[in-house]
Amino acid sequence: MYRRNISHILYPAAGILGLFIVYETWLRPVSVRPPTPAQTESESSVDRQQAPEPPPEEPQEPPSQQHRLIDPSAVPETKYQETLAAVRDEVEKGHLAEAESKLISLPPALESDQLVRPYLAVLWNNLGIEQEKREGTKGSVKAFKKAAALAPKNPVILLNLAHAYWEQRDPAMTTDFLERLIALAPNEPFPHLAMADLLQERDRLNEAADHLDLAAARAGNDPGTQSYLRTVTAKVRRTEQTEGRLNSRDSAHFTVKYDGGTDFDTWTVVLEILEEAYREIGQKFGYFPSKPIVVVLHAKDTFQGVTGSPAWADGLFDPVLGRIQVPTKGALTDRAWLKRVLRHEFVHALLHDQQGLSIVALPTWLNEGLAVQLSGDHWPDLRQLEQQEVPVIPLSALEGAWGGLSSEAASVAYLEASSAARYMINRYGMHEIQQLLTRLNKRQTLTAAMQSQFSLSYEQFQSRWLEHLHEERKKG
Ligand SMILES: [Zn+2]
Repeated sequence: MYRRNISHILYPAAGILGLFIVYETWLRPVSVRPPTPAQTESESSVDRQQAPEPPPEEPQEPPSQQHRLIDPSAVPETKYQETLAAVRDEVEKGHLAEAESKLISLPPALESDQLVRPYLAVLWNNLGIEQEKREGTKGSVKAFKKAAALAPKNPVILLNLAHAYWEQRDPAMTTDFLERLIALAPNEPFPHLAMADLLQERDRLNEAADHLDLAAARAGNDPGTQSYLRTVTAKVRRTEQTEGRLNSRDSAHFTVKYDGGTDFDTWTVVLEILEEAYREIGQKFGYFPSKPIVVVLHAKDTFQGVTGSPAWADGLFDPVLGRIQVPTKGALTDRAWLKRVLRHEFVHALLHDQQGLSIVALPTWLNEGLAVQLSGDHWPDLRQLEQQEVPVIPLSALEGAWGGLSSEAASVAYLEASSAARYMINRYGMHEIQQLLTRLNKRQTLTAAMQSQFSLSYEQFQSRWLEHLHEERKKG
């Protein structure tokens, strides 16, 4: 057996999916009406009342099609009417680059025209929507920012901007920004959810739970949404209680919570390891977290109870609360163990930070494989498993949650993930992998992303990786 003690529990996939569904449900049909101009919103054709079967092997649908257009038909009657109509037509025809350059080259005086200014905001907003359909929120955030600067009190525009900020983990998504949005769109659940998310990340759990309650009160009667929100709220409140007695200390890149009485020394060691991981892994991976990561050190006897993790788990990254949780059991006597666990979980936190909600589209084998490889952990090679004639599980069967795998299958899964990720890194390099992750972030399927990025199919990737292993084994 090669089951290593490092095994840790995986993402509670149902939780993430819940967040994803809630988010999609709310963001599609936006019910807020701006005071002017009159606007329509195409109704979403997708029924999200029912949760899909977790986990998604491949996303069944294209990424969120946001339909938060503002009706651009009423072009203000000024001497610029024709020019503005021409921009609108370019947007509607999908000539986005032309539309954008026309918008940029309009005389600046237009922006101070009281009639034209709100319409310019509408054009930028609608351009952003179209850009988002093509490139995701990475492509739309600039246009929404421009729209929001022109119409800072238009709730639809600000909701669009907030959505883009949220997906992009943009630091401009501040509590101030969200408070402004809440005042403008008091009946919308999304700003409260986003606020809760932000507060959770800053470890302001009590306030986060209050905003989750406010979101629930505005979320309608969908039982799935309500049940998800209840679960998360309960989790946040429970965490607040259990962690309330812990001390908290910040470093440049981490907030570490620990039991002051017994774990001060552990805290120092943990921080050293984490800061080293931050520099080294961030550099290797080509990405640094957008904000401090919360790390909670649990006393040995409370870790399992508090985190709900199985007995064999050595640590975990909780995506609902956005934090790394580690038991301090033996942390000081086995520094190598502590380092391995912290670095591994740090990679999960890094991927979570980078992918945002699209983390649901990241196959588990790739997530785990990158965690093992980037953390620099030395796992036994899959070849050793092959020698024992353990059958290889197809990668496509390792995309969802691993919680249901038997102990033996889980060991194979980790080894395969590690091996496939190592092959991918050696064969294509981290830059290409980053491009692949960007495609997954736009919710391309892994099949499509691999085909475009590596010019080979998922099946081909898998067979080349196995061939490579086979050759290596022959070489001894
Ligand atoms: Zn892991």
